[in-house]
Amino acid sequence: MSINDEHLADIKSILGSKGWKEDADELLPYLHEWRDRWQGQTPLLALPDSTKKTSELVSFCARHSIKITPQGGNTGLVGGQIPQGELLLSTKCLSRIHTLDVENATLTLEAGVTLAEARAAAREAGLLFPLSLASEGTATIGGVLSTNAGGMEVLRYGNTRDLTLGLEVVTATGDVWSALNGLRKDNTGYDLKHLFIGAEGTLGIITAAVLKLFPEPPIRKSAWCGLTSVKDAILLLALMRAKTGNALSKFELIPQIGVDYTVKNVPGNQAPLAKPSPWQIFVEFGFFDQTQADGLVEAVLSEAMEQGLVEDAVIAQSHTQAEAFLRLRESLSAAQKNEGAALKHDISVPVSSLARFIDEASGEAIRIVPNCRVFAFGHVGDGNVHFNILQPPGMDPDEFTRQGARLTQAVYDRVSALGGSVSAEHGIGILKKPELLTQKSDVEMQLMRAVKTALDPDNIMNPRVLF
Ligand SMILES: Cc1cc2nc3c(=O)[nH]c(=O)nc-3n(C[C@H](O)[C@H](O)[C@H](O)COP(=O)(O)OP(=O)(O)OC[C@H]3O[C@@H](n4cnc5c(N)ncnc54)[C@H](O)[C@@H]3O)c2cc1C
Repeated sequence: MSINDEHLADIKSILGSKGWKEDADELLPYLHEWRDRWQGQTPLLALPDSTKKTSELVSFCARHSIKITPQGGNTGLVGGQIPQGELLLSTKCLSRIHTLDVENATLTLEAGVTLAEARAAAREAGLLFPLSLASEGTATIGGVLSTNAGGMEVLRYGNTRDLTLGLEVVTATGDVWSALNGLRKDNTGYDLKHLFIGAEGTLGIITAAVLKLFPEPPIRKSAWCGLTSVKDAILLLALMRAKTGNALSKFELIPQIGVDYTVKNVPGNQAPLAKPSPWQIFVEFGFFDQTQADGLVEAVLSEAMEQGLVEDAVIAQSHTQAEAFLRLRESLSAAQKNEGAALKHDISVPVSSLARFIDEASGEAIRIVPNCRVFAFGHVGDGNVHFNILQPPGMDPDEFTRQGARLTQAVYDRVSALGGSVSAEHGIGILKKPELLTQKSDVEMQLMRAVKTALDPDNIMNPRVLF
């Protein structure tokens, strides 16, 4: 049912005078996606400031079949948070940190708290919440849960799903399901939280969560390595894991073109290695023991050189140098901006198939568009690579974009052949709906639809997303 003036008046009264906005200028930042890909529209922005009000609002919407788009920080990259006529429900005012339990190593907080605020709260108590994204100043806990966000330390700590112990959810019928118990063991039937994590707002509104905290390793060591192949990068990963155990926290692949374009296009960066190497690895370790930290990284790099896996390496000698390595890695997306049209794919394959994937997908891309520039980088430790293809220098960008569908199909065919996923991070949203259908089996789609129908029978929660 479409929303009418009477509904709007009732919704405003549920939310109270400060709990909504409808002025076009005030709504603008909520309706614009940061890369300008989607422009939305909504009859009203709802800003409930409690679970109770969220529940009353969703109950009202369920009774009147009013569709809802949930939004956290609006940093999602697949369009799921931008309404097209639905009521927009922002969690911005659900912004309280409830408790930090040091002995249980858990943080209980509302969904609208930003990731940066959550990390700061943990840090203040001498603990670590290890999820970290470039968007963390704006991305919210509800958003990272709903997209099961990853980041650079998945290798050591897991993704958001692995970092969550409990949830509170307002279901699509407006009921409140509260399981903010912080239990590490609970074998009492279906683990419902996993349905809502990664659901992109299609099953209910996450209003609060219990997150896992960890001791913060006091000593961080990082290094930059030059390699001749992705195959050697995979062998290096195995060697580092075997020799340093759980200390390895970041293992990021960067192509030489990535270093070149970052130095050229993003001020303040310089190449870490004296000579170019086709592939480079940025690694970071977190240690609790100084003696271990002092010798181990040098020893493992020497062994890697003896085995011929690494041709050159620099260990950061200061905090400033370590920060410079990290900055270069974080600048890789911005580095591509001045290089014309780009086609981006955020995929994953089993780590053991990654070298083969990059090799075969690069070959296919060059066969379809000769001289295109493959710019593949990412979280190799998770089998997750940002497989980007830049237009050949001097080519008309529109002509390159016209080849986009063929290039993407070729990339996804390789992903599929190697048992991978077309969305390693970010989710499906609006952007990747067609790919979801080609990737999942009929049985899997039927099961997903059955879950959606059971939990959201009137299809009011983010109705254009996923299906
Ligand atoms: C510069 C930059 C870097 C990024 N880096 C990474 C990265 O390394 N790894 C990664 O995984 N992602 C990354 N992202 C993507 C983005 O930050 C994540 O998707 C983030 O998790 C979204 O959080 P948000 O609060 O902005 O959610 P939004 O963008 O507002 O929403 C995302 C989705 O979640 C739903 N949603 C939001 N809140 C709720 C809620 N409380 N209940 C139910 N549904 C909800 C929305 O409907 C939408 O479908 C990056 C984005 C940017 C802009």
